[in-house]
Amino acid sequence: MSEIKSICVYCGSRKGPDHSFVEMAKELGKVLAENDINLVYGGGNVGLMGIIANKVIDQGGRVYGYIPQHLDRVEISFTRATEMHVVPNMHVRKFNMFRQSDAFVVMPGGLGTLDEVFEMITWRQLGLHTKPIILLNHKNYWAPLADLIDHVINNEFASPENATFFELVDTVDQVLPAIKQMNERLP
Ligand code: AMP
Repeated sequence: MSEIKSICVYCGSRKGPDHSFVEMAKELGKVLAENDINLVYGGGNVGLMGIIANKVIDQGGRVYGYIPQHLDRVEISFTRATEMHVVPNMHVRKFNMFRQSDAFVVMPGGLGTLDEVFEMITWRQLGLHTKPIILLNHKNYWAPLADLIDHVINNEFASPENATFFELVDTVDQVLPAIKQMNERLP
């Protein structure tokens, strides 16, 4: 796993319906810190974003946040980060998160998370990167998204190859092995 130095985690600025979502975020934070992998994320101290960032720091890991100026107050920037970058806008935030990361892990989240995961899948489709994308399918949260993409492929508006650009895993302990497997399969 030495090639994976930084993982970008996309996730909700809310915490989800029950405590198991919070536990999942803490578990992933612990796995990143224990494996000496940097967390790259949107820089907020709210919802699952704040939970994972705090856990990584609590475990002695490193956190790199990118927060756009206009969200700096709303999302309440994480003050314990290794590095916190206040950037001019969402485009700069998303591009920096993309550039600094070797893989993407998507925990449950809302519309912002959907926007972020689709951007990474479509950039892969356009050949702009070959980085692994893992959807943490806690409580089957991402099944409707996988079904929607299958629907698009079945209707021939996307290539069947697009279904290989991301993988769903059920538990946190499957995340790093899935990234490794995807990397081995990549060109
Ligand atoms: P959410 O999944 O909506 O809770 O948002 C998670 C992350 O996505 C947060 O860092 C938000 O700043 C970001 N976000 C929220 N809304 C949008 C949006 N319309 N476009 C892109 N990112 C967003």
